[in-house]
Amino acid sequence: MPKLDCLHWCRRLLFGLMFPIALSPGAAQEHPGLRISTPAEIASEFASVPCDNAGRLPAVRAMLTRLGAQDSDFRIDRFDAYDGVENLVLILPGESPEKIVIGAHYDKIGDGCGAVDNWTGQVALAHLYRTLHGMQLKKTLVFVAFGREENGLVGSRAMVSAIPHEQLASYCAMINIDSLGLARPQVADNMSSRTLERLAVDVANSMDIPFSHVTIGGSASDSNAFTAKKIPAITLHGLDRNWMHVLHRREDQASKVNPMSVYLGYRLALSMVARMDQTPCDAYR
Ligand SMILES: [Zn+2]
Repeated sequence: MPKLDCLHWCRRLLFGLMFPIALSPGAAQEHPGLRISTPAEIASEFASVPCDNAGRLPAVRAMLTRLGAQDSDFRIDRFDAYDGVENLVLILPGESPEKIVIGAHYDKIGDGCGAVDNWTGQVALAHLYRTLHGMQLKKTLVFVAFGREENGLVGSRAMVSAIPHEQLASYCAMINIDSLGLARPQVADNMSSRTLERLAVDVANSMDIPFSHVTIGGSASDSNAFTAKKIPAITLHGLDRNWMHVLHRREDQASKVNPMSVYLGYRLALSMVARMDQTPCDAYR
């Protein structure tokens, strides 16, 4: 797939997306202060990326706090049966207990900074939280920064294993963001439900966001923990054909991140959540 090439589609981006896209007309009117993050704001999050695993969770929390979360909004779910993995959880209650999970892993592996994999996901997650925080939503949004994805989806598997069987049906869908930053937003086919792929394509087309599919061979991400429990899920990424020379290596540095890729991933996920919020919970099963 082609690399992010501004000549080909920045013009479309500028003319198609400069204006805030209302999540729903009613909600936008009720919340005139709807806060859509700008490409410059997204870019500024890569000025300093915490490069060691120990510093990642505090840094995620600090970013979310800066973007509007209160201390009382955070919950750390620790799972002793999963080697003490910790997920950071924030909930935005909606009118109904039906849930949409928005997730991204915060851990990293290898000698690099984990800027692409997956500080980009944390940045998108935090800015989604800021924008959606002010919205009146039908469904409840569950934001999760997952621990130890790189060790076998440990945090996400721990989370889904803790959902009581009778509550599984209240989980309408899960959007996972893993490794934006190298190219246009894409769906990882082998990590995603077909129903949500169709939604992503539809939303991307309606927003004039360049978009494509790709199978990332031999790998999985936190969405797979949800599809294994029959919860519809999708992974959005922004990798190019050279991703294997960046991810999990010393080369995974902030300098590799194209902020426009992260911005578009954030905008795509935002509009997908808005659509899901207005759609019956079982529509994607
Ligand atoms: Zn990853």
